[in-house]
Amino acid sequence: MKKLLIQGWFCILTTLVLADERPNVLVIVADDLGYADLGFQGCKDIPTPNLDALAASGIRCTNGYVSHPFCSPTRAGLLTGRYQHRFGHENNPAYLPDDPKSGLPLDQITLPEMLKKAGYATGMVGKWHLGAHPSLHPNRRGFEEYFGFIGGGHLYDPAEPKGGDEYKVPLQFNGEPRPFDRYLTDILGREAAAYVDRHASSGKPWFLYLAFNAPHTPLSAPKELLEKFSSIQDEHRRTYAAMVHSMDAAVGETLKGLEKTRQRENTLVFFVSDNGGPHLSRRNLSDFTNNSPLRGAKGDMYEGGIRVPFLVCWPKRLKPGLYEKPVIALDFFATAAAMGGGKVPNDRKMDSVNLLPYLTGETAGNPHEVLFWRSQGPGGNYAVREGDWKLVRNGSAPAELYNLSSDVGETGNLAAQRPDKVQALTSLIDGWEKETKTPVFGGPKQGPARKKKAK
Ligand code: CA
Repeated sequence: MKKLLIQGWFCILTTLVLADERPNVLVIVADDLGYADLGFQGCKDIPTPNLDALAASGIRCTNGYVSHPFCSPTRAGLLTGRYQHRFGHENNPAYLPDDPKSGLPLDQITLPEMLKKAGYATGMVGKWHLGAHPSLHPNRRGFEEYFGFIGGGHLYDPAEPKGGDEYKVPLQFNGEPRPFDRYLTDILGREAAAYVDRHASSGKPWFLYLAFNAPHTPLSAPKELLEKFSSIQDEHRRTYAAMVHSMDAAVGETLKGLEKTRQRENTLVFFVSDNGGPHLSRRNLSDFTNNSPLRGAKGDMYEGGIRVPFLVCWPKRLKPGLYEKPVIALDFFATAAAMGGGKVPNDRKMDSVNLLPYLTGETAGNPHEVLFWRSQGPGGNYAVREGDWKLVRNGSAPAELYNLSSDVGETGNLAAQRPDKVQALTSLIDGWEKETKTPVFGGPKQGPARKKKAK
């Protein structure tokens, strides 16, 4: 009888353990990657076999967006599931370790905080860029483990010190300095693979945020890779190509780690760039990124600033294919919450939609009826998309109207033909703007007063 009871308990315990079939969640973010600079996006001169394989085994969202045309605000939106304008995070924070206000506000609930509460292990590797004050450190914002650098970027090669002081801050693990002994992107790939390996048999699912600074400037790549791309004439494009290729290899190392530990099938992977590729002719660099067929670049309200390569891959639940309705990186939050048994906050307005029923085809409608963008605060630059219609308003210039179904390159301004649409979309922006705040901190280029404070 006693033996039977023990066996019974053992069965119940085994069932309980096996019942935790929640997926691991891996969010991979590239930095300043051109829309057309990956193989699966049509690129011919930069091989990206690992990201291509990820795309082939998942769903490519062809109308996938981020919530901002540059770094930090996009990352703030992605990690909170809310338009970052709702909490005033509309600029890149300057690197100010003594300023608790320059970064992701402490009253915002982050994706790792939400999943940690649901029983997930949480980790991050890479670029933080959400505040340099100790109270804003990733370990204080839901990440149990953090390897990376706190600022908006980092130099890549320890022997080639390019970039300002912020880019030379030591690499760290949970606040402790770590050696910078090889090409940075390789280090991030190694650390991400080590994370998935370390947590493979912990008995609980994990969340990993792998935030590359690649292929953001400074342009810097390993010499042997530059030789591999010697057929590319433009030297900036050549270095950038090597950087993108390195990032692809680091993604490959992480995915190989998942396969080796038999976690690939039940890991939900998201991949995006944080904004479009920059066009840097103003800085005496060539426009070495390619956003075609989209108009504009990083910083712009045109598609080239905000529409990005966007993948969702979960072999266990999602059949490979294309998804063409508009989705946004804000959706990672609600999707991860639904799959991980986490709670989406109900004490604040959220902008995140669980994409799973849409991606499986169970739900046919639109995840979002309208999407909004604003840069540089009230009175700055705006975009709104409703269905195929998009309105762009750059400062005080007249509004421009495009129909993206026939004109993805935003070449034919239809504002004069359709004043009704211009008016309807403008009033949508006006309504949304009432729910936003003015920026609570300035960017690094806000003037000498802030720079002085940094010292
Ligand atoms: Ca960026």
